Amino acid sequence: KIKIIKINSEKNTENVGTLMVIQDITKMKMLENMRSEFVANVSHELKTPLTSIKGFAETLKDVEDENIRKKFLDIINIEAERLTRLINDILTLSELENKEYALNFEKLNVIEILEEIKYIMKPLAESKNIEIYLEKECEDIYVHGDRDKFKQMLINLLDNAIKYTNEGGKVKIILEKSTNEVIISVIDNGIGIPKEHLPRLFERFYRVDKARSRSLGGTGLGLAIVKHVVNLMQGKIDVESKVGEGTTFKITLPM
Ligand code: ADP
Repeated sequence: KIKIIKINSEKNTENVGTLMVIQDITKMKMLENMRSEFVANVSHELKTPLTSIKGFAETLKDVEDENIRKKFLDIINIEAERLTRLINDILTLSELENKEYALNFEKLNVIEILEEIKYIMKPLAESKNIEIYLEKECEDIYVHGDRDKFKQMLINLLDNAIKYTNEGGKVKIILEKSTNEVIISVIDNGIGIPKEHLPRLFERFYRVDKARSRSLGGTGLGLAIVKHVVNLMQGKIDVESKVGEGTTFKITLPM
């Protein structure tokens, strides 16, 4: 953006010079574009289940067959659940992005939380005959973070590991520590991710296989939330994957 200002003399009679102000607004413009792209994506994502709910609810009025009615009601229920998940994820993201939002930072016992998450995710894993292993190299590891958001981050990673792994697969959580860092790896032997997708994986609504993610109930926001939480905890996240062999997400956090 360029602004030209004419400078007059004190008596305002003669022009004594011109001032040119050049302001780089690339970043501002980029943020503005990102915001409007996000709003467009959100609207689209919200509309899809809503359209489906509306369509099935309307048709339901004219359906007499009890089995078909039940099928339609199931679809309405599944779509309503997707809508709820989507809204919850959008709210979590906006909380994480809002600097005014009071995150509750405290000392967190990593092993205790990992055991809890493993327990929470057990029914989902069992429904696919997947075993979750927790390998800890050490006891009493603490990090500094918001308990709910830290748990949400681990749930998202485990949920993905289970979702994108075939029946009978394995999911492993490994906890390691170095002098001043904690490393949490979530490893699966699932479908894997093609290399060209890895750089964009943490973007909002980015999915490798849209249809697969949708059919598994994904919102496309899970990893964006994970990335935000890791950043807030001043850590980093790396991903390694091989198609057909599996994926590893590795989080490094300051102790
Ligand atoms: P979604 O709700 O679609 O799972 P995420 O943000 O959690 O959204 O993940 C983005 C995409 O990354 C997914 O759609 C999927 O294609 C891919 N992905 C994430 N985790 C894994 C994994 N463990 N194995 C294979 N693909 C994964």
